[in-house]
Amino acid sequence: SNDYRVVVFGAGGVGKSSLVLRFVKGTFRESYIPTIEDTYRQITDTTGSHQFPAMQRLSISKGHAFILVYSVTSRQSLEELRPIWDVIREMKGADLANSPVMLVGNKCDETENREVDASDGEAEAARWCCNFMETSAKTNHNVKELFQELLNMEKNR
Ligand code: GDP
Ligand code: MG
Repeated sequence: SNDYRVVVFGAGGVGKSSLVLRFVKGTFRESYIPTIEDTYRQITDTTGSHQFPAMQRLSISKGHAFILVYSVTSRQSLEELRPIWDVIREMKGADLANSPVMLVGNKCDETENREVDASDGEAEAARWCCNFMETSAKTNHNVKELFQELLNMEKNR
């Protein structure tokens, strides 16, 4: 539906805006597919973990799908997602099954500075009962796949 909204959460600097911009830029370069363009208008890029609680709750209440981004170069950024996940779970409650959540380890190109292994991210996602993916906004690894995966989840609602 037209009001389907994907909300991107995560600590400052993990690459939320870069993922959204990479996705939008790539799409504009390839072809102007209306559904993809709609998807962009349906993406809410948040300011980060230090968003005011009331704003955070408003974003969550309006959201249908959630991208929780950490940087693989920062274990702290993964830990900062836990409280956001708790609020999403609390607010969506029984509707959580209809609210797809993707845990995303961004900056997977940073092999030298990696602090979080893919298997750690996967294990955390399993504990949270959500999906998992590693991305790089820099090299465009898995960016399209990330947003397409959430689009497919919308169709299955
Ligand atoms: P936000 O605060 O979560 O929106 O993060 P930004 O998108 O503003 O990115 C923060 C910094 O991380 C910027 O310097 C980006 O260039 C860098 N960055 C974002 N994504 C990646 C990535 O996938 N790999 C690398 N190496 N750097 C990235
Ligand atoms: Mg940003």
